[in-house]
Amino acid sequence: MRVCYLLGYPVGHSMSAVMHNAAFEEMDLRYRYDLRGVSPEKLGAFMTREMREQAVRGANVTIPHKVAVMGHLDEVDREAVAIGAVNTIVNEGSSLKGYNTDGIGAISALEEAYGGLEGVKAVIVGAGGAARAIGYRLSSLAGAIIILNRTAGRAEELAGHLSSTPECKAHIATSHLSRPALEDALRKADILINTTPLGMTPSVEGTPVDAGLIQPGTLVFDTVYNPLRTRLLREAEAAGARTLSGLRMLVYQGAAAFRLWTGLEPPVETMYRAVAEALGEEWV
Ligand code: NAP
Repeated sequence: MRVCYLLGYPVGHSMSAVMHNAAFEEMDLRYRYDLRGVSPEKLGAFMTREMREQAVRGANVTIPHKVAVMGHLDEVDREAVAIGAVNTIVNEGSSLKGYNTDGIGAISALEEAYGGLEGVKAVIVGAGGAARAIGYRLSSLAGAIIILNRTAGRAEELAGHLSSTPECKAHIATSHLSRPALEDALRKADILINTTPLGMTPSVEGTPVDAGLIQPGTLVFDTVYNPLRTRLLREAEAAGARTLSGLRMLVYQGAAAFRLWTGLEPPVETMYRAVAEALGEEWV
């Protein structure tokens, strides 16, 4: 039996455990996914000893370890270096390599919902870790990206970083998150992406965008997946826009981790159904 961990602190109930264990079971694999709460003070010791054990195949990494863990790995994949955070680790014969699958997870979800992303005009609200991961992949495909953030300096820093990567093809602009800036940006956008926690349980009435600003024909992607249908998505639907839940991103970033651990093609729909059911029963 091989084990994959979710490494965080604290770690409570986890949708990653639900979806990976459903996938391992469906494919009859001798793997299991366990939660491991490791405090920041104990991270180094955990990475040196337990993570390198033969039975441990890998881990997902969550708050607060996504950046700190990079200092405890033997190798970090190029994309994770560019994003500045690791969310997946593979243990290969006691050598640990870090990856970041959030960007590919988001792009797979977007391509499924929208089609080819070459030349699209996208608005990203937020400039934290999720925006960084999505922005890195999207900037290699999109024609233009506008990043709107509560702290304007953070949006500028992210835009500067993305523009400096050799993969970047998009023109990247930024603005402070305000109604006029949103109104202007959304008039020209094909895709709107929320990467802020606004609308997430328990503050489900939060939304980063006033309903009146959403244009019909836009694809509105909320990275929040709890609840499944956020206020932003409900209002987007009412405005005639297409919508995409963060659950598809969660599943596709998990699917990418599954491929790295097992070398096998993951049962994506089983993973999706397992999480949707768990969210439906417990949180929505
Ligand atoms: P983060 O690094 O803390 O960044 C949060 C961003 O949201 C920052 O830009 C922050 O603005 C902004 N923000 C926070 N509260 C706000 C408010 N009240 N009003 C306006 N802006 C606000 O967090 P993260 O790691 O990027 O995660 C953000 C969200 O992404 C999570 O809540 C999660 O729902 C989602 N996510 C989903 C997946 C998935 O698989 N579906 C994966 C990763 C993340 P400032 O810079 O001004 O602080």
